[in-house]
This record gives sequence, structure tokens and C-alpha cells, in this order.
Amino acid sequence: MSTSKVYALDTSTLITVLRNILEVMKANEKYLTKLDADIGDADHGINMVRGFQKVMELINKENPSKLDAGRALQLTGMGLLQVVGGAAGPLYGMFFLEASKKVQGKKEITVKDFADVLEAGLKAVKMVGGGTVVGDKTMVDVLEPVVAKAKEIISKRDNVDFIELLEEIVPFAKECVLNTIPLQARKGRASYLGERSKNHQDPGATSTYLIIRTFYDTLKGTTGVKISEYDQATGKLLKEEPL
Ligand code: ADP
Ligand code: MG
Repeated sequence: MSTSKVYALDTSTLITVLRNILEVMKANEKYLTKLDADIGDADHGINMVRGFQKVMELINKENPSKLDAGRALQLTGMGLLQVVGGAAGPLYGMFFLEASKKVQGKKEITVKDFADVLEAGLKAVKMVGGGTVVGDKTMVDVLEPVVAKAKEIISKRDNVDFIELLEEIVPFAKECVLNTIPLQARKGRASYLGERSKNHQDPGATSTYLIIRTFYDTLKGTTGVKISEYDQATGKLLKEEPL
């Protein structure tokens, strides 16, 4: 496996990431839906697959070789908004739409851009979610700490590249997902369950982790992972296998 440094994500690599995210969502559709069946309405996996299918359809309709990074992220937001209902559509849709503005017209995304893109997306999610904060047991429980950590790494280390950054971010994001298990949900459908939302892994936090890790896997030349083992009671992620 190549260990060369990656300082920028060009548009074609970004499109490969998006295509791989679709594959990852398909591979984890049942798992994500199981997580949502436990504390929601059993559609999260279905939503994510349908959403990223539409994203790839929109990207393929425009000449992918002519797209810039901003437009690719904008089409991602549009696709998700168009076909995903409920909470996740507007949340992820606005995440990508707002994120796209940070790299409008750019052919590539630098490491610094990447942190800015995630930060803009996080801000949108918090707003669309109605003031979601860390601890509410949502995707923000992964996004916010990840943004903070990415910014910290970039500010402290000169010339950090994508691989080095993501090598730290990916396991950290997974920890953040596991940290949602004991929490009582304060936002979204799961919050209707009150105390009963405790001891379950949040589906949206899990899909956010999978998206972040697919950037890493793609840069390493692989597609992504399937969660192949989990705890039946809590949904706790136990084992991942490469696709
Ligand atoms: P729905 O809840 O409409 O069925 P999904 O099942 O696709 O939508 O997505 C549920 C996920 O969305 C949750 O697991 C949570 O991570 C995220 N979520 C729900 N409400 C909010 C919110 N207000 N702010 C941030 N994230 C939220
Ligand atoms: Mg749902």
C-alpha cells in the first residue's frame, strides 16, 4: 500500500469517495436500519442508500470530469435533499450544501479546506437540527469533536497530510460513535423514547463515522468497510471488514 503524502483531494478523487460512500451505505444498510429500528423508525439505512444513489445520478448526469469540488459537494447536498425525507435528508443535505460553499469553484480540497468544509457542514446541521449540541445523541456527537480535533491537528502540525490527519480522526470518530451508546437522546425521533433511548448506538452518528472513514479508505486505495459484527442489544459496533 502506498504511503505517499496526500495534500489535496482532487475532484475525481472526491467523486470516487462519494461513489464509495454509496457502496458503504449499501453494505451497511441493514445495520443502520437495525440501529434506527431500536430507537427510531427503521429507515436510516434505506435513507442513506437512496440519498447517495441520487447523488451519483446527479453527478453522472453532469460530465463528472468537468465538475469542480464545490459543485460535486453541492450536487451531493441537492441529491440528499431531493430524495431523503425525515430528519436525515435536510440535515445531511444542508451539511453538504453549506460545506460546498467553502470550496466553490475549487478543483481540489486542501487539508485546511477539509476542516473548513466539515466545520461549515457542522454549523448547518446544528442550525437545521434546532440548536443540536454534543450530548444530544446525534451525528453532532461525532461531527463536532472531529472538527475540533482536525483543527487542532492542523494548527499544531505543519504540513500535515490527509492520511496522517485521517489516521487520527477515524479512530477518534469511532470512539465518539461508541460514546453515544449510554446517552439519552434529546433530539430527533429517539428523544420521544426518553430513558429508553439509552444503551443504543445512534444511527446518524454511525453513518457520519462511516462517511468520514470512507475518505480515509478511498485515499488508501480501498472502498470502505462493512460492519460485520455488532452487539444485538445495543447495536454497538464490534467488528469491521473491508469491502
Ligand atoms: P428520521 O429520524 O427522520 O427517520 P433518519 O432515521 O434517517 O431520519 O436519521 C436519524 C438520525 O438523524 C439520528 O440518528 C440522529 O443522528 C440524526 N438527527 C435526528 N434529529 C437530529 C437533530 N435535531 N440534530 C442533529 N441530528 C439529528
Ligand atoms: Mg429514521
